[in-house]
Amino acid sequence: MSKFHKWLYYRGAKKRNPSLFKHFSDLKKTEKCELAELKKLNEERLQKLCIFAFENSEFYRDRFNRVSFDPVNSWSLAGFQRLPQVSKKDLIEFNSEIHTPSHFFKKRFFVETSGTSGEILTFHRDESWDSFNRASIWRGYSWFGVNPWDRKLYFWGYNTAPLKRIKLQILDFMVNRFRLFDYDADRLKKLLPKLKNVSIIEGYSSMIYELANILEDRKPQFGSLKLVKGTSEKVFPHYQDIARKVYGLSIANEYGATESGIIAFECPNGNMHLNMEGVYVEQDPEDGGILVTNLQSYSFPSIRYKLGDQIELAPETYECSCGLKAPVLKEVTGRIGKKIFGRNKIYPSLTLYYIFKNLYFNDHKTIDFQAHQYEVGKLEIWVKEPVTESLNSMILTEASKYFSDLDLSLIENHDFRQQSGKLRDFVSHLD
Ligand SMILES: [Zn+2]
Repeated sequence: MSKFHKWLYYRGAKKRNPSLFKHFSDLKKTEKCELAELKKLNEERLQKLCIFAFENSEFYRDRFNRVSFDPVNSWSLAGFQRLPQVSKKDLIEFNSEIHTPSHFFKKRFFVETSGTSGEILTFHRDESWDSFNRASIWRGYSWFGVNPWDRKLYFWGYNTAPLKRIKLQILDFMVNRFRLFDYDADRLKKLLPKLKNVSIIEGYSSMIYELANILEDRKPQFGSLKLVKGTSEKVFPHYQDIARKVYGLSIANEYGATESGIIAFECPNGNMHLNMEGVYVEQDPEDGGILVTNLQSYSFPSIRYKLGDQIELAPETYECSCGLKAPVLKEVTGRIGKKIFGRNKIYPSLTLYYIFKNLYFNDHKTIDFQAHQYEVGKLEIWVKEPVTESLNSMILTEASKYFSDLDLSLIENHDFRQQSGKLRDFVSHLD
């Protein structure tokens, strides 16, 4: 079966993504480079992209001119850093001015992506960029001894419209994966016998975690599992405890976004390595937010793009024991900009992350939560477990170290996973 799927994969990729194999073999070569070489390659690609954008994208030409930065004749990183940041709003509003002419590309794919705040971004992704992205994921797989054509279990959409479902099932067969459409305990149970052939489990981290919770008592047999990959969401420490227990593996994080590609991929030794061949990463000195320049995005460049996540990079001298020299992204700590309103003070929503992290590390208490604010000065914290006196006082005591003018109420609620998409730890209902 695996041979057949490998054949299918190659056949499909040759047709759809002809440059995939070249990108993959290049990535396998450059991953062995020393840090200095990687940084050189990284900057060379940055300059090349900037020149292309300067010469071919109306939006960027204007931005480069405004700060008198000419990437062709006077390239410097200092000059580059003068460029204004680009927001998602810019990508949407100046969409056609950002796009470079289509005649440069043999083939482009139409991409549509929606953010958590509901706005929809569409753009054209050229074949090389698309293939590079796939090759980056493939490289990440290769660190775990798996291939894109191996058997996968995939959690993603909640889209259950029958026709769409059939389409997805055909597509899934082609790429050797089966997926969970619904988040339903009975359906998950039926999954058990299939698990022994799965090599890769992937999807939102919170769903991988929830699956582990449901499987815990059922003693699932994972004969061929080599990689559990979590995407798009923060991996909390208590997710890892149960993942190791149930899957025998930690959740490896893949960090990226549709518009900026794969930013980092976690190695088997538990460190997220920056994808130096694919992205130029900076940190906004103002708020610690990540700025990403996608080095492959020729058809729709995103340069100094403010993704909205707060990150922490390991010091440059840090070396991972796996041998890869690409810099390490220590943590994606959360989203920037979401605010909790006290009666007089304003708190970043990231505060919640610290409160529950402390409870885990200091009190060894694992709490699945989601916070909602409907009124200024008040915050509801939904928890999955029964609200006891001791849980109440534990959370309120920890929270009082951070919040001084906010009334907290704990509410037992099991259903906060039911909404589709990313699991957010804070939802504001204020205008
Ligand atoms: Zn490593």
